[in-house]
Formats: sequence, structure tokens, C-alpha cells
Amino acid sequence: MLVNATHINLYHVCKRELWLHYHGVRMEYNSDLVAEGKLLGELSYPDRSEKYTELQLGNVKIDYYDARNKVVHEIKKSDKVEAAHRAQVMYYLYRLLLVGIEGATGIIEYPALRQKEHVILDPGEIEKIQKWEREIIEICSRDKCPQVLRAKICKSCSYHDFCYIEEE
Ligand code: SF4
Repeated sequence: MLVNATHINLYHVCKRELWLHYHGVRMEYNSDLVAEGKLLGELSYPDRSEKYTELQLGNVKIDYYDARNKVVHEIKKSDKVEAAHRAQVMYYLYRLLLVGIEGATGIIEYPALRQKEHVILDPGEIEKIQKWEREIIEICSRDKCPQVLRAKICKSCSYHDFCYIEEE
């Protein structure tokens, strides 16, 4: 299994969602929230593609990279799962480091909230990221899907109906 930034994000949101995603159970394409998020990025930054480049690092794609300043830009709709967003951007910085790009930083932008979060990769965090990768591989290799999270975040998750269907 090749770990990518989506796996890192989902690992921090919900282990069950990570497992479902990895095993090809996809609901996010039907999700209005995901569509809304994509549209938000396009509308908020119409000239973005001229300023930043898309960067492919093996199996990881960074949509908006400012190569001159070595800054990864990530646009998100809400800060509900901010820890997952930070982990995703940290993973981009880690993968940049693996290909020899040192000292890159990240900015998570929340246009609807008019907020920005800066992300740096502390060398001490590399071991932590490698641990995430090992745990992601372990979770995804399980035969069974992890338990339902039963958390607030479930209400806005695209897998909500799938996870709670027996209770409705
Ligand atoms: S509905 Fe909850 S338990 Fe199910 S995948 Fe989403 S966050 Fe995880």
C-alpha cells in the first residue's frame, strides 16, 4: 500500500472512513459538502492556477505549490477537523523533504472564515509521521471495518447513512 495525503487526513478524522475509502467504498462523490468545498476553492481563488503549480510527488499530488517561496497552499471549507488538515499539510512537507526540498512550509486557508493557519514541519515530527504511515497500513490491511465513531463529525460525513442505516 502506498500511503497518500488523503489517507493521512482520513486517519485523523475517522479510522473507519479511512478503511472504507481504502477498500473502495466511496460516498464522497455524492456529497454536496465535498462539491461545495471544491467550488469554494475555485471561486475564492480564480487566478490561483497562474500563481501556483501542481506538484506530483510519486503517489502524492499537491494542488497548489508556490515553488519560488516553497509554500504549500491548501484550501478548506471549515476548520471542524483542523487537526486532520494540519496532518495532511505536514505530510506534504514531509514528502517534499523526501525528494530533497528542505524548509518548505504550508498555509491552510479557510476563505469562508477568512482565516489562515501556518504549518511547519519540525524535524522531531518526522518519526510521528512515519508512525501514522505504519498505522494506516495496519488499519487498511484489516479484514473488518473499524467501529462506527459515534461522534459529532458523523453528522456531516458522507458515509453517515452507510454507517447508521441500521439505526434509522
Ligand atoms: S459516519 Fe462517522 S463513523 Fe462513519 S465514516 Fe463517517 S465519521 Fe466515520
